[in-house]
Amino acid sequence: MAEINRAIKGTNDMLPTDSHKYQFVEGKMLEIASLYGFREIRVPVFEHTEVFQRSVGDTTDVVQKEMYTFDDKGGRSITLRPELTAGVVRSVIEHGIVNGALPAKVCYIGGCYRYEKPQAGRLREFHQFGVECFGAASPAADAEVISLGLQVLETVGIKNISLEINSIGCPECRKNYHKALSEYFNAHIDTLCETCRDRLSRNPMRILDCKSPVCSSLAKDAPKVIDFLCDDCQNHFDGVKAHLDAAGIEYTVNPQIVRGLDYYTKTVFEFVSGDIGAQSTVCGGGRYDGLVSQMGGPKVHALGFGMGIERLMLALENQKTDFPEPKRCDVYIAPMGEVAAIKATAICTQLRRDGFEAQSDVCGRGLKAQMKYADKIGALFSVVLGDNELTDNVCNIKNMKTGEVQQISLDDFAEQFMKIKHDLVLNSLEDSIV
Ligand code: ATP
Ligand code: MG
Repeated sequence: MAEINRAIKGTNDMLPTDSHKYQFVEGKMLEIASLYGFREIRVPVFEHTEVFQRSVGDTTDVVQKEMYTFDDKGGRSITLRPELTAGVVRSVIEHGIVNGALPAKVCYIGGCYRYEKPQAGRLREFHQFGVECFGAASPAADAEVISLGLQVLETVGIKNISLEINSIGCPECRKNYHKALSEYFNAHIDTLCETCRDRLSRNPMRILDCKSPVCSSLAKDAPKVIDFLCDDCQNHFDGVKAHLDAAGIEYTVNPQIVRGLDYYTKTVFEFVSGDIGAQSTVCGGGRYDGLVSQMGGPKVHALGFGMGIERLMLALENQKTDFPEPKRCDVYIAPMGEVAAIKATAICTQLRRDGFEAQSDVCGRGLKAQMKYADKIGALFSVVLGDNELTDNVCNIKNMKTGEVQQISLDDFAEQFMKIKHDLVLNSLEDSIV
């Protein structure tokens, strides 16, 4: 029995008491993305397993350890998406978007699934806001995507956030780098974890991203990819820095950033929060110029980022950020008796059509219990509808905060309510200015 009353480990419920915060943050994400020309895309929660193996890379932690993979009833191997870039790339190839007008800019918000050890800021189901830009080779595009991420973070009110950038080069400059890395790690082969011993011959760069304490301490002194960049990659990286400088965006170059997914090339970056402990990367992204063609599409440049929504919320909560007030019930109509209940339904219907949140009794409760409820939900106004009100066609509307009462006719209730609410908003605005 216990199982059906408890969510799966590493998953979170977003409760109605918090939804206004998520709606605010997610609303800003899409709104700001649209200022940069990014339009929303929605892709499935699951894909053929190869979509992730081919793109994220089969020597990464994500593919080797973290994917939720299963065979469906038709015997196909299916995986719950651990991130959205792979599915988005599959989609933009399938629908010919990368053959159309470029750059093509898309953004998304969606759930991701990774079998990881749950802890603060590390969940098995989490959500990402992300953007992807296809067909843009210039360093201006890298700076634009970074600037978008920063604007989102600043707009939702985050403080104490820093931008770290690096370049991990292209396959060309990586040849020499892989050689240097292999030499370095070969000298320490006995101390590497088992997974990394295997990575040493297949993809030594992945060792830099290993979370095991021994491998990560060895990684600190390993050769840095930034010292092996070819001219083209070095020029691109210099260009990104020049554009960031022009945009007035502060950053530090952190040669340790390699990112945990195989598809990155050239620029990689992270936004790191000083307020959420060990899981401090709120947003990570970069360029992945080879991925679209590797997935069967045309040769187009591409870049993007993924921002962890739960980690961002954690940082905002820890910083005691002020969110906009949650929406409240505008008016609660408390009917006494059947006839009044019918009238209440008519009034509420009109109020809602006019855009007000109106509630009435749907439990068959007495007046006292109804008023208690109206109080609990923080209704701004309340109205009691009894026999007298129905006969006179007038009722009293009460401001629940001040206790002030006004008369209002039942016939054009919604119209008059508009004026009452308008006055309330004006008064509270005046109060906040004083
Ligand atoms: P980490 O190094 O923390 O494991 P990652 O490199 O695996 O992160 P990405 O794959 O780049 O992360 O995902 C982008 C963002 O998604 C991260 O910066 C983080 O904010 C968020 N994220 C990743 N994994 C999780 C998770 N298990 N729980 C919550 N958020 C996550
Ligand atoms: Mg990870």
